[in-house]
Parts: sequence; C-alpha cells; structure tokens
Amino acid sequence: MEALNPFTMAQKQLAEAAAVMNLEPAVHDLLNNPLKEFHVRIPVRMDNGSIRIFQGFRVQYNHARGPTKGGIRFHPEETIDTVRALAAWMTWKCAVVDIPLGGGKGGVACDPRELSPGEQERLCRGYVRALGRVIGPDIDVPAPDVNSNPQFMAWMVDEYELIHGRHAPGVITGKPLPMGGSAGRTEATGRGGAYCIREAAKVVGIDPSKAVYAIQGYGNVGRGTHQMLTRLFKAKVVAVADEFGGVYREEGLDYTELSAYAVKNGTVNGFSGPGCKPFSNPELLALPVDILIPAALDGVIHAGNADKVSCRILAEMANGPTTPEADAILAKKNIFIIPDFLCNAGGVTVSYFEGVQNAYGYYWDAETVAARLDAKMTSAFHAVIETAARYKVSNRTGAYLIAVERVAEACKIRGWV
Ligand code: GLU
Repeated sequence: MEALNPFTMAQKQLAEAAAVMNLEPAVHDLLNNPLKEFHVRIPVRMDNGSIRIFQGFRVQYNHARGPTKGGIRFHPEETIDTVRALAAWMTWKCAVVDIPLGGGKGGVACDPRELSPGEQERLCRGYVRALGRVIGPDIDVPAPDVNSNPQFMAWMVDEYELIHGRHAPGVITGKPLPMGGSAGRTEATGRGGAYCIREAAKVVGIDPSKAVYAIQGYGNVGRGTHQMLTRLFKAKVVAVADEFGGVYREEGLDYTELSAYAVKNGTVNGFSGPGCKPFSNPELLALPVDILIPAALDGVIHAGNADKVSCRILAEMANGPTTPEADAILAKKNIFIIPDFLCNAGGVTVSYFEGVQNAYGYYWDAETVAARLDAKMTSAFHAVIETAARYKVSNRTGAYLIAVERVAEACKIRGWV
C-alpha cells in the first residue's frame, strides 16, 4: 500500500509536472520545499483552571508572486507534513487562478469541537500571539479551513490589531461581514466548484441539472457546494456523508433541511425523512453517480478503493483527496477529474477579493463578487484542460504545468534561481 503522507503526495505530483516541462533542477529544488516554516507551542488556560499546551504550525511555502495565503486548520491529527502539503497546494492554487498571492497554510493540533467557546477564543488569540510578527497583509494572510470559521478569524484579527495598535482588516480573510469580510466569501468555495462543474459537464456532455450527485463531507465546503448546486442547477444530490455517517435519498436531499440539521447536530448522520436511509462513507465513494464530490479531507480516494469509484466527473472540493496511485486507477476508468487546487480555488479567490476591498476600504455587492469569481474560475478551468490536451497529460498535471510555470517565472525574475 502507498504511504499516505500528503507532503510526499504533493512532491510526487510536482515531480510529474517537472518532468513534463523539463524544470531546471534548481527551480525544482526550490519549489519542492517550503521557504519558511514556524513551529509554535501555544499555552492556553482551560476553563477548569489548568493549562494545556497546543502545537501550532505556519508554513510560508513560496511568496514569489505575493504575500503567502492560506487557511488555518484545527485538526487532532495535524502534522507539519500535512501543513507543508497544504501550503504547497495553496501556492499552485493561487497561481492557477492567477491571483497575486503566494501559498501558505497553518495548523493547530486539536479538535476545537471539544473546546468551550472561551477556550477556542484563547487558543485563537494564542496562535496570533505566537505568530503575530510573521503574518500581516503584506506578509502572510491566513483564512478559515477545516474546523475553523469566521468567528475564529474575528478573534485573530482583533488580537493582531491589539498587538500592532492599528486597524489591519487585511491581515486575515474569511472574516465576518461587520469586520470587513466580503459578500459571498462563506459560500465562495462551493460557488467556484459549481462553476467548474458547469464547465466540466459541457466537456463531458452531461446536463448539470439532470445529473446525479454525491457529496462527501458537509462542513463549510460541502454545504456551500450543495447550496450552489441547488441554486444554480436545482441539482439532485442523492447522498451526503461525513465522518460520523451519512444519508441517501433517491429523489435528492433538500439543501435547506439537511444543512439546518447538520449545523444543529454537527453531522448529517441521523437525518431522516420520507425516502431517507442511513449511508456510509465507503458506500458513498462507490455509488454510481454522474458527479462525485469529495469535500472533506486528503487521501480519501486511494489505491484500496479507487477501483470502486464509479462517477463520470470527480470534482475535488477537498484538498488532496486523491492519492497518486488512485489517480492512475481513475485515469484508466476514464473519469474526468477537476483537480483540487482548481476546483476549490473559489474560496481563496474571494479571499483575494476581500483583501482588495480591505485595502481600498470600499466594498462590492454579492453580484459583483459572483461575476468576478465566475470569470476567474471559468478562464482557469479552460486554461487547464487546454494545457492538459496540448501536453497529453492529466488535468491535474495540466494544472501543475500552468501554476509551476507562473511561480517559477516569478522566482527567476526576482533572481532567486
Ligand atoms: N482554506 C481555503 C483553501 O484551502 C481558503 C484559503 C484562503 O482563503 O486563504 O483554499
């Protein structure tokens, strides 16, 4: 069985593109590892009076094209290699949609669902106290990711502003609206993915409003994707599962009802109603559907289950859901993959719009955000599939060719390599 170290996976993907484009060894070496990383210990006073020390990370992978950009994950199994991989993918993500940002990522090893709101707040503030000198609107700009949310971002911005003694809304994106958040940021990842699905459906020759969908993961990204697929295509999502279980309904699951249940209960498991039946994650990944959407964690489609995947389009809304061995298996099955750092780039694209609005203190309406996001996603999607066709490589490698070329060019112009 292949090892599921996500950073090894990211490096393998890069190596494949590097071979196709004859990337110079020094450039490959530079892009193969983060430029900077920070490991911090964060002491937090718990509600019972004890002190618990949390492990935190921030990786600034590459800033040749702009300040590093990427979310902060709160996950019990967080490791430096996960954060490195995610920071590398952020670098390629920002480059493929051509926004002037580099790639970074942060992580805290913890399960915030086990913490009280007060403990969560002290942990968020502690993270910024540890890293407040190495992040900033012109340096490195965090955002939400797995298990973090706009409220966490608000506490972090507030702590940063306390430390620096001035307003600095652009230090973090994904903020609540009253603190300088952007219209449309919460559902932006889902919206960007829905635009990619719309374009991929044209290529594959299916009608997105007649297609059958399944979604794995129902956090902000899974829910936002369901919402946008419903809004744009009245899509029939027959199955949704998360880490605790899932639900199947042949006639399609209603977004409003399911999301309200999931937000209240912290899971879709147990959702019931006419025609609903309990469903598991392995069943979901093997379900014959037109469009399968992994929207949870990395490494979920691997050598052990890829042959069971039975969809026409795999829309990767999670970061790194498909391992390199699984990629090879899916290619033989002729599955059209919308690679992760293209498919889920809607979030960071609207984060970029948020930073722009913060910088000039003038805010756009939701329609403007959506139209500008559509333009970015649609042109990136077509550039990727055209590049993949031209070089006769997978869509993933096509996306890498564009992104790596852009980052490499910026590194060279700066005189780094
Ligand atoms: N966490 C999101 C991602 O993986 C968004 C990052 C951002 O907005 O900076 O793309």
